[in-house]
Amino acid sequence: MVTETPGELAIRVYRELHRHPEIGLRVPRTLRTIEEALAGLPLELHRGEAIDSLVAVLPGPAGGPVAVLRADTDALPIEESSEHELRSEIEGAMHACGHDGHSAMLVGAAHALAASELRPPGPVVMMWQPGEEGYEGMAAMIDEGLMELVDGLGPVQRSYGLHLLSDPGVPRGVFTGRAGPSHASTATFEIVLEGRGGHAAFPHLAEDPVPACAALISALNVAMTRTRDPFDPAVLTVGAVAAGDAPNVIAERAVLRGTIRAYSVASGEQIVGMVRRTADGIAAAHGLRAEVLIEGGYPSVVNDAACVEHFADVVTAALGEGRFQPMRNPLPAGDDYARLLERIPGAFFMLGAGLPDAAGTMHPNHSPGVRFDESVLVDGVAALAAIALDPLPAAGTEEAAGTAEPRVRGFRAAADSDMLEGDTE
Ligand SMILES: [Zn+2]
Ligand SMILES: [Zn+2]
Repeated sequence: MVTETPGELAIRVYRELHRHPEIGLRVPRTLRTIEEALAGLPLELHRGEAIDSLVAVLPGPAGGPVAVLRADTDALPIEESSEHELRSEIEGAMHACGHDGHSAMLVGAAHALAASELRPPGPVVMMWQPGEEGYEGMAAMIDEGLMELVDGLGPVQRSYGLHLLSDPGVPRGVFTGRAGPSHASTATFEIVLEGRGGHAAFPHLAEDPVPACAALISALNVAMTRTRDPFDPAVLTVGAVAAGDAPNVIAERAVLRGTIRAYSVASGEQIVGMVRRTADGIAAAHGLRAEVLIEGGYPSVVNDAACVEHFADVVTAALGEGRFQPMRNPLPAGDDYARLLERIPGAFFMLGAGLPDAAGTMHPNHSPGVRFDESVLVDGVAALAAIALDPLPAAGTEEAAGTAEPRVRGFRAAADSDMLEGDTE
């Protein structure tokens, strides 16, 4: 029998998932890999029906607080650009956001929890969620009864999510997070400027949408600086513009598409109102009509302060000093973990994992050249298991005042030591 630690198992699962990425809500091979790696553990498994989701419950003391740990499982429609041994074997699909690592770390944590001498204070719910990259996978899991399952286990207390990050500002193996917003809300807009086509030499006989389109792009960017509180950051980007096919023809219409990122509901709504008003106003000034479509995406990720502080203490105790770095500013990326945080207080953390390429460039998440260092997965396994084992201190207690020791000191060893007999292959 070959012995394998939870950390080694996580790396093995990561390699398998990285080579075989799947996109969207249907990720059957991914789920099979995860289920096989969980075999033999004392878990109660619940599989999604309409989507390929998995919830595994590790029973804990009855009446104890429930901890929810979330991993996402889906990849992106990107062709992996770098050549390496683990390169994606699926054409046009790549784990460029590290979700393979998230899934693998949670599998490792399930093993570390099952093998630990410490018992969690209550049931631990581990969830593998597909379709994070724009497919509303979290909403789909909630529709399939996630909250009913969690509520049925006892008083809901907290939830945690972990995300790999390729960013030179976050060293490998360092966790980062913040109280309050850490990720932006997302919304997509499309504006159609309807004109009247014609001969390019006779502009007075047509209604040209192209100059209006140019004016609108400028006006939107000016409005972002003139109508908003400079201490409430937000992003608006026009990412796609389409109008006309020929140099001597006035186009019938121009289409602009873009994205809005904000950190509060009020801020998101204010920008949506501004986009509508500006599009209508610019169109009217040019004698055109504007049609504005705005599709809401994910809400902003808003973290519970007590959960962030507790996680920082636990990571420091489990892995050592310097392993938690407060996140100074929120990230303009979005994540549908936000939908779980709207229901269960908790926190979302980034784990530095980016590997620079031969030229020294560290490519960001979602880039075809991004590489993650698999050796940090062991730290993620330890952190996820430790946070589930260490109860959130009750407000007003010695623990909450930060004077008590977390019970997971030196817990990293658990992710590096042998698993229970029979858990190995
Ligand atoms: Zn992503
Ligand atoms: Zn992601």
